Amino acid sequence: MNVKLTQSAISMALAGNPNAGKTTLFNHLTGARQHVGNYPGITVDRKEGYLSVNGQDVTLIDLPGTYSLTAYSIEELVARDFLVNERPQVVINIVDASNLERNLYLTAQFLELGVPLVIALNMVDVAESRGITIKVDKLSELLGVPVVPIIARTGKGTDMLLETALDVVSSELAWEPITISYGDDLDATIIHLVEDITSADFLTSTYPARYTAIKYLENDEQILVKGRDESPVIAEDLEADVAKVANHLKKTLNVYPEAIIADHRYGYLKSILRDGIISHAYDTDRLYTTDRIDKIVTNRLLGPVIMLGILFVLYNFTFSWSELPITWLERAFGWLGSAIDEIMPAGPLKSLLISGVIDGVGGVLGFVPLIMFMFFGIAVLEDSGYLARVAYMMDRIFRIFGLHGSSVMPFILSGGIAGGCAVPGVMATRTLRSPKERMATLLTVPFMNCGAKLPVLALLIGAFFSEHKASLMFVFTMLAWAVALFAAKFLRMTILRGESTPFIMELPPYRIPTLKGLLIHTWERTWQYIKKAGTIILGISILLWAMMTYPGISSEKLLLFETERNSIIAAYPAAVVTELSTRGDALSVEAADLQERLLRLDKTISEQALKSSAAGTLGRGLEVISQFAGFDWRTNIALVGGFAAKEIIVSTLGTAYSMGEVAVEESDSLGKRLQRSPHWNKVIAVAALVFIMFYAPCFVTVACIAKESSWRWAAFSMAFNTVFAFLLAVVVYQVGMFLKLG
Ligand code: GDP
Ligand code: MG
Repeated sequence: MNVKLTQSAISMALAGNPNAGKTTLFNHLTGARQHVGNYPGITVDRKEGYLSVNGQDVTLIDLPGTYSLTAYSIEELVARDFLVNERPQVVINIVDASNLERNLYLTAQFLELGVPLVIALNMVDVAESRGITIKVDKLSELLGVPVVPIIARTGKGTDMLLETALDVVSSELAWEPITISYGDDLDATIIHLVEDITSADFLTSTYPARYTAIKYLENDEQILVKGRDESPVIAEDLEADVAKVANHLKKTLNVYPEAIIADHRYGYLKSILRDGIISHAYDTDRLYTTDRIDKIVTNRLLGPVIMLGILFVLYNFTFSWSELPITWLERAFGWLGSAIDEIMPAGPLKSLLISGVIDGVGGVLGFVPLIMFMFFGIAVLEDSGYLARVAYMMDRIFRIFGLHGSSVMPFILSGGIAGGCAVPGVMATRTLRSPKERMATLLTVPFMNCGAKLPVLALLIGAFFSEHKASLMFVFTMLAWAVALFAAKFLRMTILRGESTPFIMELPPYRIPTLKGLLIHTWERTWQYIKKAGTIILGISILLWAMMTYPGISSEKLLLFETERNSIIAAYPAAVVTELSTRGDALSVEAADLQERLLRLDKTISEQALKSSAAGTLGRGLEVISQFAGFDWRTNIALVGGFAAKEIIVSTLGTAYSMGEVAVEESDSLGKRLQRSPHWNKVIAVAALVFIMFYAPCFVTVACIAKESSWRWAAFSMAFNTVFAFLLAVVVYQVGMFLKLG
């Protein structure tokens, strides 16, 4: 170590492809000494960590994972801007040794930018297990930068890495861009552009001249804009030169300069890697197997059929295996309700516990087994590598609807295979390059069947179509996709009109998932669901219960009901009345009759109470419009609650439909209650499902959309979805009733 210790902290940036192990290394190096914020003005994470190497303080900045440094996505721009504006003293470029060629594509761009670089050759353990050996010294020599093999997961080699990085800092190298040849046509133009750029000192304080020239050829929007700001005259001159060579290439080779540049970069890397730097000890069997599987699984015709088949199996698995545990849970909550009913005196607290807490949260928690099985199935698809194939196949279809291959992941995350959440889905749209494709994706992902809609689907399908649970689940998933895609097409043809951008994606090799990995994945997601039910849902559930209980029946009305009760009782001989209050069962015909009449009265009273509560008033007010879709006022209450979170729908229906009932033996499951209710039938169930699937996203999602775009788009999303969903529900109801399907 020959480091001249400086007083202030040295800044190191950590950069690399997604999944290269950046986070693992960052955490290993900095431990708990981290700080997470946002880059000014945008929602991309900015992570900084602090460490000390041989007494020298170091600030480590984790750049967003990217494949490239073009101006296509926010992440790429953030990474590039950071490098040129903040000039870290050294960049640690982490590359995945088991995927070297692809990872070095980004490295080539760092080299062209000229940043002081150290390569952390990560995952050498993985490479080794696949029989890949890499000649580190030779690689370092050819690239002209230090290469240090590491295993980020165990920390092996990281001390060496840090020392090497400090060495680079202390040797105080100037930024030194390498020169890659881009073929005769472009090289000539580049030389010409570089002359103009250097003589005018055009952007040279930020970028090396050759870099600017290449970016002009790549049609890099950010740099074009910056150039016009710096000097409109020179910018115009450069753009004209670029247009000329672009035209020429288009005519002779029918390609854009960008494509030639990318080809030559890969060519440069191939030539470096050719000299036996990478050797395979044995044939990569797994890759071979992967290719063979992919030939069938991603086949143009067979692929989609297999995909649909797999989804269908997934639904069957989820619904049939979870049936038993769901029944147990329902019974447990039913039992808990009756137990409390027996031991507690009547009053608001009892009502709160039974109607607000147990029916509300219990209704949601009752679906935990279903959610768990669904997540388990999805974890299998994800961990095996199949989900990436789904994205790959869907790209072809997405294109037709004006979306992008990168839209697929947001859709799947949001519940494309059911059970996701639109929040990570909305956030995942950050990887989309074109703002219009991004907006279209952002606005349509909430149409997917997220984990919160799943219980509603399960409830209504279970209650009204119990014969065909799996197939209907499948149908509703397909419907969600169809609606989302057509809505996207609609948006892309109207307010978001514009061109589409190309898509490249790597298919990871297939892996047999480990049971531990599957269980962890399943548990993480299930736990999130439970936490939500336990906190947010409980809170809103209680709030809604209060709205459904107060102000309650007026005292005059109550008096009226009391009189009615007395007159009912008075109509029977005293012996019958005593019989009813002393003997629980085996009543005489007369006593049973009296009991029946009293129960009916109680029911009317609680129904009146609910009707005149705050929520009831709101729900009844909404009946004016909602009647066209067949929703009664209780359903309206639940739907209003669903604006906050879709889970609330089940819990509120549970509360609303339990308040109207009194007898203990009627502590049936909610599904049964709906089945019996005169306000529900098959057509209404479908209309309600359609409405719930497509109306306004939940609050959290709306907030997220606002954060990722603007409040105006968020408001648009709420209004557009609700109006659209309602119209659809009306059509379903009216047509269904007309055909007498109810
Ligand atoms: P990032 O996307 O670059 O932040 O990558 P992560 O740090 O999240 O790592 C991706 C995956 O690779 C994780 O599952 C890590 O546990 C794993 N990983 C990272 N470094 C190594 C390594 O050196 N060896 C092995 N076997 N796995 C690693
Ligand atoms: Mg990471």
